[in-house]
Amino acid sequence: MRKRTSKERDYADLHCVLPDPFHTISPMPLTCPSCGNNHNFLVKTLQMHVVRLDDARVEVNDEGRPAVIEVLCDECETALKFEDFDDAVRKEMLLTLGAR
Ligand SMILES: [Zn+2]
Repeated sequence: MRKRTSKERDYADLHCVLPDPFHTISPMPLTCPSCGNNHNFLVKTLQMHVVRLDDARVEVNDEGRPAVIEVLCDECETALKFEDFDDAVRKEMLLTLGAR
């Protein structure tokens, strides 16, 4: 297993409130400028929930769709700009992730 960055550890620590923040997508018509990887990318998403506590019950009132917060090359961890991705690729990614 590759070494985690401190940023990733932060996300891991928050795992209970940020369910499933990591997705690996393959293959995509993109190329990492650093290592030439064009298949595996690490997409971090963030999902917000409004949780309501009612006596002993816990209700999730509002569940937004996850937003993409970061895209990294899965091989060398170079940060890629999601805004710079091809429009069709971005749409396909968001659709696949159920994100916005
Ligand atoms: Zn790379």
